[in-house]
Amino acid sequence: MVKGKLRVVEVFDSVQGEGELIGMPHTFVRLAGCNLRCRWCDTKFALESSGVEMGVDEVVSKVNCGYVCVTGGEPLLQDVCGLLAGLSESGRKVTVETNCTVRDKGLDEFVFLYSVSPKLSSSGEGYDEDVLLSYLNLDNVQVKFVVCDDDDFLEVVSIVEKYGAFVRGKVVLQPDGMCSLAEYQRRLGWLCGKVMASKVLVLSDVRVLLQLHKVIWGNKKGV
Ligand code: SF4
Repeated sequence: MVKGKLRVVEVFDSVQGEGELIGMPHTFVRLAGCNLRCRWCDTKFALESSGVEMGVDEVVSKVNCGYVCVTGGEPLLQDVCGLLAGLSESGRKVTVETNCTVRDKGLDEFVFLYSVSPKLSSSGEGYDEDVLLSYLNLDNVQVKFVVCDDDDFLEVVSIVEKYGAFVRGKVVLQPDGMCSLAEYQRRLGWLCGKVMASKVLVLSDVRVLLQLHKVIWGNKKGV
């Protein structure tokens, strides 16, 4: 790849479908490549595509919204410093979505929100505990877990117990959305019931959130 260029899969405008900025208009910048292969990955096209090479100015010129979500794949595998600086200097509020295996403190000054998504057992992958702790030391972080089954749920409980005050109010749980709408509704109900029955999660202000884009558009790409 040419130095200073990014491998971009897609740039599109939509409402943010998940997490604490849910419903807010965003421009999404999806970068190519990932170091993991989660079983339930809903963006496999970003892993398999090598993307289109673009310079920072070209990407910034495609941004129409005040909020920008830099996502993947795993965006931090590419040299995103110039992109994040350019977006921040143009007054955009930048969310970086990352899978909790990569950390670069040099990016912090350009990031409005880190959306960190450590992978639980059902994914077939994992995360780096030191990386998670480093993110948890920040205030502008949300930690999103996809919870598919009881084993995943118990893992979340043990993480919340382990990190205590560091994770309070920062954890968002969501079910796997690769299913029909009726099944998704059932999974959301299951997860809400599990959280409300867990004193640890209730006292840590853990939230269950849906993925708005899945309810509206299913698993369609570019929305
Ligand atoms: S980390 Fe994200 S993009 Fe990478 S394989 Fe897992 S779900 Fe897919």
